[in-house]
Amino acid sequence: MSKYLKSKLPDVGTTIFTVMSALANEHGAINLSQGFPDFDCDEELKELVAQSMREGYNQYPPMRGIPELLDEIAKKIEFLYDLKLDPESEITITAGATQAIYTVISAVVHPGDEVIVIDPAYDSYRPSIRVNGGIPVMYQLRAPHFKIDWDELESLITDKTVLLIMNTPQNPIGRTFKSHDLEALADLVERYGFMVLSDEVYEHIIFDEQPHESILKYDKIFANGFAVYSFGKTFHNTGWKIGYCVSPPNLTNEFRKVHQFNVFTVNTPMQHGLAKYLGKKEKYISLPAFFQAKRDYLQQALVNSRLQPIESEGTYFQLYDYSEISDLPDTEFAKLLTTKYGVAAIPISVFYHTPPNDPIIRLCFAKKESTLSLAAKKLSVI
Ligand code: PMP
Ligand code: GLN
Repeated sequence: MSKYLKSKLPDVGTTIFTVMSALANEHGAINLSQGFPDFDCDEELKELVAQSMREGYNQYPPMRGIPELLDEIAKKIEFLYDLKLDPESEITITAGATQAIYTVISAVVHPGDEVIVIDPAYDSYRPSIRVNGGIPVMYQLRAPHFKIDWDELESLITDKTVLLIMNTPQNPIGRTFKSHDLEALADLVERYGFMVLSDEVYEHIIFDEQPHESILKYDKIFANGFAVYSFGKTFHNTGWKIGYCVSPPNLTNEFRKVHQFNVFTVNTPMQHGLAKYLGKKEKYISLPAFFQAKRDYLQQALVNSRLQPIESEGTYFQLYDYSEISDLPDTEFAKLLTTKYGVAAIPISVFYHTPPNDPIIRLCFAKKESTLSLAAKKLSVI
């Protein structure tokens, strides 16, 4: 081994999602851990992609994405958030949201810069900051309400704070930012001038008739903001890894300087297929009801179990408190559930920098009713 090899992320191992899915496979457990649907994406979309391949769309597309898809995304954003964008200078197609997040951080975070992260957070944020020499500064939300106290958050801002990362609806807690949260954030952005990276991959998975509070609706935030999205979450094809990043021209310019060297372009036939599909508004407008039915189905199926649901307002995750069943730490309990009781879950401690020791697991309900029913049967006898 080279004497020069020195890990940039010495404490990072395999992600919990990979570990739990592997454990689920090994033990033949029902996998409610990693967030992906167990049903297929729309045949119509697959056919549009296949058709694009047959039509010869198989070489490099433009670096920022194909114009047809950028235009369709701009139309969708205008329809949903009443914001008119220039697709050429404000939208970039990415290899999923994870690459968009990594690219934003690489483009704007310099060594020694501080980045505020709202914990519990999706697992890619912290390593992406650290590998770029930034310092993650955690603002920790507390169960079961997970509310942000904006005065408390303000006390974390220093003259080194360059970026704040938010996620709404938020994985793993299933909570959403409300308009008063965005207003408080807009005020901080105006006063301190930091940038905002808003992870909005679950924009269409939001329940009980709530609106999605995108940063795209708040001029003061968007002027300094990047919003990232994932077609994988919206169209049930997480394996395609296509998403996009929306930001004003000056920020997009910096974003693309990195993007062109860490991915350059994103696969062509899928972009063409998605461009033809995206105009069909009913495909995403129907999602809140589709996933809310699954959330409610799982809750109902578990009503006689000793797992207590913690409100889920969005995402395809539901937290459950297992304190009536066990005193084990959540990582041990999640393993036991998988190996002994046949249902894989994610312990929520892994989403925290400093885990609070809450007896809580996360279940993914982006599954067929038959899968949820079978899992609930197993979970109800514990
Ligand atoms: N952000 C959040 C909050 C997520 O839960 C996920 C998980 N899929 C991603 C980003 C990554 O999205 P993609 O698969 O498009 O990279
Ligand atoms: N976002 C998904 C989850 O939270 C998984 C993504 C991944 O496997 N990296 O389960």
